[in-house]
Amino acid sequence: MRHILKCSSCMAYSLMDVCPACSSESLRVGPAKFSPQDAYASYRRAAKADALRRAGLL
Ligand SMILES: [Zn+2]
Repeated sequence: MRHILKCSSCMAYSLMDVCPACSSESLRVGPAKFSPQDAYASYRRAAKADALRRAGLL
């Protein structure tokens, strides 16, 4: 099954991996699949800590 994709530069929707309008990469729309195991928790925490550090809050 194909999912709808959104171009990363011109924001056009398509079903192609490469945007038919500007030949940029198209990405999946919507959040990542939820899992109770939270396999990417360490990456999520690292990104949040990095954002807080850059904002001067950590
Ligand atoms: Zn495009």
